[in-house]
Amino acid sequence: MKALHQILTGTLIYSTQRKKNLPPPTFTDSDLKEGLRRSWTAELIGHLLVKYESEWYADEALSKWNEIDDLFEEEKQQQKTLIEAGLDEWRITELYQRDIAMKKVDEAHEHVKKNWQLEKAQRIKPSLWWQQVAQAQAQAQTTSTEQSDANANTPKLSNLSTDGKAWFIHPVAMVDYFAGNNILFKKGDKDEIIREINIRLAGFGGNVPTDEFTERTENMIKQFQRDYMQVKETGVVDMNVIKAIDEFHEEYAISNTIWLQLKCRCSPKKCSGFGNGLGTNTSPERYNTYEFPSIHRSLLFGFSALIFYLSRQNVYKFREISSGYRCHSHKDGKTANHRGKALDIQFNKGTWAIGGLNKNNIAPLLYIRDNFFKTYLNAQDNWKEKNLFTTEPIGLDANDKPITGYTYSWIHMDVRSFEKQYLLDEYFCTDATTLNKEKLITLINK
Ligand SMILES: [Zn+2]
Ligand SMILES: [Zn+2]
Repeated sequence: MKALHQILTGTLIYSTQRKKNLPPPTFTDSDLKEGLRRSWTAELIGHLLVKYESEWYADEALSKWNEIDDLFEEEKQQQKTLIEAGLDEWRITELYQRDIAMKKVDEAHEHVKKNWQLEKAQRIKPSLWWQQVAQAQAQAQTTSTEQSDANANTPKLSNLSTDGKAWFIHPVAMVDYFAGNNILFKKGDKDEIIREINIRLAGFGGNVPTDEFTERTENMIKQFQRDYMQVKETGVVDMNVIKAIDEFHEEYAISNTIWLQLKCRCSPKKCSGFGNGLGTNTSPERYNTYEFPSIHRSLLFGFSALIFYLSRQNVYKFREISSGYRCHSHKDGKTANHRGKALDIQFNKGTWAIGGLNKNNIAPLLYIRDNFFKTYLNAQDNWKEKNLFTTEPIGLDANDKPITGYTYSWIHMDVRSFEKQYLLDEYFCTDATTLNKEKLITLINK
């Protein structure tokens, strides 16, 4: 790959010299990345060539292609081993039953092998045009050297080497390789795209909507690389991270059902689902009953990450959002948190729907809080620290009766501890469009 990089560098320097009559520029990976964003340089890179033997070249005996024959045998043996293991697992011990299975594999492979022999004879052999063309061309060139001056304006046939070696490239793979490895953002950087990343990955260790690439951002990227991407942690944002974030949001998008659950359930209906903007946005947040324009984006992306982490095991499952937005007209209208800053989430443990006033709820809820909310979202269980996700205390009193300010059948998560600059109206969203906005790849390429 290093050699390839040198070729790329050389070609770009060459093209700059040739087109602009300038001395060669100092060339770095980021120049190349810039180059790939512009169609004209991307096209140049696409024309770069790497040398290997053409698939349209082979000797008369097709020895190169015959090497593949052995691979069929190998593959067949591998399949048989797999099937043997499967039969053992299913406790199929009768010899005749096992023989039937093996015979099926043999038959299937005979069929594939027959097709391959036909492929070689009928398609590969007739298309080995390389040698013929190369030889004819070499001949034509020796006989026409004396006329070459006269034909200076006629484009020459490209030269095919008689050994069948030529330069090839897979342009798309190249673009992917280089675009994927360049650092786009790292600690200390500042950008509107970083703000988006801080919002969209908030569930990976918690974060606030700042445009700065902070230490939290670095840890968040590492956690995302480790857990979602399953690649080496670098803590920097490259194109692979950008693509993975877009993928993550598609995979764990808020469904229409959940959007309906998020909306205010005031009765009779007094709002469209996210209040009417009543009240003034005051401090402290604990008493701020202002109707924010909808639900905070970081909160919803935190919820998406929770769903991702839950998907890695089979015991605890998300069931529903039992309460999202609550406007002034909602029967539980006294809330400050549920004016766009909080979600009440309900779970199943196996087939059991955790709900109602039941002292048995407490243990599994504490387990979910500690092993998901705390472990992965870095949520705190009271509002002491600034700028963290917070879950409301969980529990019942000594007589198994509810305690004010405690939950007992759901987990309440909020962004109440976010500082005011992270609770601006613009960070709240009403639907999938205002939550997801444009894909990061689109923003990067702007
Ligand atoms: Zn309402
Ligand atoms: Zn709540």
